[in-house]
Amino acid sequence: MTATVLDGRRVAEKVVAAAAGDVAALARAPGLATVLVGDDPASEIYVRNKRRRCVAAGIRDLHRRFGADVTQDELAGAIRALGGDPGVTGILLQLPLPPHLDADALVSLIPPDKDVDGLTEINAGRLALGRPGLSPCTPLGVLELLDAHGIALAGAEAVVVGRSNLVGKPMAQLLLRRHATVTVCHSRTRDLAAVCRRADVLVVAAGIPGLISADAVKPGATVVDVGIHRTPDGLRGDVDFDAVRVVAGAITPVPGGVGPMTIAMLLANTVAAAGR
Ligand code: ADP
Repeated sequence: MTATVLDGRRVAEKVVAAAAGDVAALARAPGLATVLVGDDPASEIYVRNKRRRCVAAGIRDLHRRFGADVTQDELAGAIRALGGDPGVTGILLQLPLPPHLDADALVSLIPPDKDVDGLTEINAGRLALGRPGLSPCTPLGVLELLDAHGIALAGAEAVVVGRSNLVGKPMAQLLLRRHATVTVCHSRTRDLAAVCRRADVLVVAAGIPGLISADAVKPGATVVDVGIHRTPDGLRGDVDFDAVRVVAGAITPVPGGVGPMTIAMLLANTVAAAGR
């Protein structure tokens, strides 16, 4: 068997088009403040792509750039100012920050209803309690991609590999909300492959290239690869795509799977934040 490849680019286009339609219907276009600190090349590329997609959808680009030597107080002041500015409807603080800055303290300054990355304590709490709020874009994108392909979640065995606040934990919460039976694996999990083999839906966000091979996949399972790594052979995920695609029923490619969905959901969240 060869797995169906879940095309994130195609589904992302639909989400982006819907967001652009929503923007056009608003009395005033949403304004997204992307905050970039320092000169991490990967972060620069991510932020550039996010801004480009937002502008294309009619969202106002309110980018703020700071040098790597910015102080905690300066950055805190800037985030507070954005928080109080009615023209700014969404704030995205690009992580990671340089090590002298306290990222948690800065994220906490973002008003929850402008928190388009869903990283504040309030939004994490809302997600955990099943209340309406803004949730992280990557796990939202995974759900959207699964839904677009009609992959059933209610009653399914879902295994999430990784427990980060940005991906693994919110992914588990969202799958639980959709009535999946959810298991979360991490670096201390004993016999990772055996746990993963139980999964009807396997979401991998561990940040380790090729961590998941065919022996960790139940025949016919849906495998979602959140990892992205620059290797000499090009971009690779956390899943050994060539080995797993002959076992799985459906699989996301890297690139072209979860990545485009993440940016699409940022647009959706920015529209949602503007309406809150
Ligand atoms: P992201 O935020 O993209 O999910 P991080 O690198 O912040 O990525 O987090 C990686 C996550 O993967 C951590 O939560 C960690 O517990 C988990 N992890 C790391 N190594 C393994 C492993 N060998 N098996 C399963 N999970 C792992």
